[in-house]
Amino acid sequence: MSNLRELLTRTADRVADYRESIAERRVAPVADVQRLRAELGGPLPAEGADAGTVLDELAAAVEPALMSSAGPRFFGFVVGGSLDAAVGADILTTGWDQLAFNVASSPAAALVEEIAGAWLRESLGLPPDASFGIVTGTQAGNTVGLAAARHRVLERAGWDVERRGLHGAPRIRVVAGEERHATIDRSLRLLGIGADAVESVATGPNGAVDPDALVRTLEADPDEPTIVCAQAGNVNTGAFDDLLVACEAARRRGAWVHVDGAFGLWAAASPAFEHLVAGREAADSWVVDGHKWLNLPYDSGFVFCADPDAHAASMSYTAAYLVQGEGPVRAPADYVPESSRRARGFVTWAALRELGRDGLATLVERCCALARRFAEQLEAIDGATIANDVVLNQVLVGFGDDGRTERVIEGIQRDGTCWMGGTTWHERRLMRIAVSNWTTTEADVDRSVEAIRRVLASQS
Ligand SMILES: *Cc1c(COP(=O)(O)O)cnc(C)c1O
Repeated sequence: MSNLRELLTRTADRVADYRESIAERRVAPVADVQRLRAELGGPLPAEGADAGTVLDELAAAVEPALMSSAGPRFFGFVVGGSLDAAVGADILTTGWDQLAFNVASSPAAALVEEIAGAWLRESLGLPPDASFGIVTGTQAGNTVGLAAARHRVLERAGWDVERRGLHGAPRIRVVAGEERHATIDRSLRLLGIGADAVESVATGPNGAVDPDALVRTLEADPDEPTIVCAQAGNVNTGAFDDLLVACEAARRRGAWVHVDGAFGLWAAASPAFEHLVAGREAADSWVVDGHKWLNLPYDSGFVFCADPDAHAASMSYTAAYLVQGEGPVRAPADYVPESSRRARGFVTWAALRELGRDGLATLVERCCALARRFAEQLEAIDGATIANDVVLNQVLVGFGDDGRTERVIEGIQRDGTCWMGGTTWHERRLMRIAVSNWTTTEADVDRSVEAIRRVLASQS
């Protein structure tokens, strides 16, 4: 088969078949690693093959080993599915194969990214003049936000970090909660600030930073260039650092506030949950993922900055005057670490257009309601206890001692009805449930709770 149209039609059918059947597939596959290696591995064949045959071979070998993480009963990590318009737009993006560098490389990519950015700022209640970049996820977004922060706090101390690097630079102090996401530390490593620069602030019972401790830490050493990393959505509990307090205390000190809101910043899109991120507009940089709660396909994240000059100074390799004088369409590449990049704006635009403002709010609210449903039903099971205050879409549940909890987690993953991961939080082994897929229903929750009940019963 060498006809492109036929190849793509069959590929689209394959994608549709997979997605239509995903709700009834086992969630964790019984992956046969040996078989997969045997079928696809070995030395690269000298001779090429027909494109259709290649795709047949790939799909036949791989499909049995796929994790149904895009389906409605995958509750591990914080993983969304993909909205229909987003899947379609992603396929189009591949077909169009645009270089999202600037308006010259693709006017469509640059313009649609700009529109998507404006919609995102509006949905998240961020300043309308904040700059933004589309990156691969929050890890990349944290690196960009902290690079902009590094630029500005050192510039205030009389140091040009882009030109001179960090050798001999004033020390940067990073103030962050002890339950910050590990990606913050990796970004600090990549930026040469180093993980040791972090002064960890104690967190309260639900994993949010203790506001008094934050203020005390900030005020202890008022003269050093300082970056505060606040978290909107603790990866275990969903708890929020108090952004009002963090921004106000930082402002008094001339510190920069970076908000890691990988999934939690979406609370801003719902009138019912927006209060959790009150005060966010006073921060300096923000990060949120597209591939988590917005239900975009991997890989997609967004970084915003209230200080566009610092943002562009840290990322662009054209001079700042070029950024300001760039004309009617901004150059996406001035706000991210990549030059050649996928046109992720199309997928972002399509998802937001499919949902609309109301649909986005409903998506957030429905997932949170389903998380509460999980908590209520699990709490009623003898031997199960909810360990966190369920403020958002995250539920932590324990089953007696750590050993038994671990066995229930392993049992549920093997069972295949649903998939939950494990975590260690406040010194306890816990099952961690994140509800962030747009297709999950009450029936999916009920069926998953039933599976947990069954697995737990088989442990006694
Ligand atoms: C998932 C997550 C990250 C990392 O995001 P990636 O998109 O995987 O890079 C960072 N912070 C928080 C709070 C997260 O939940």
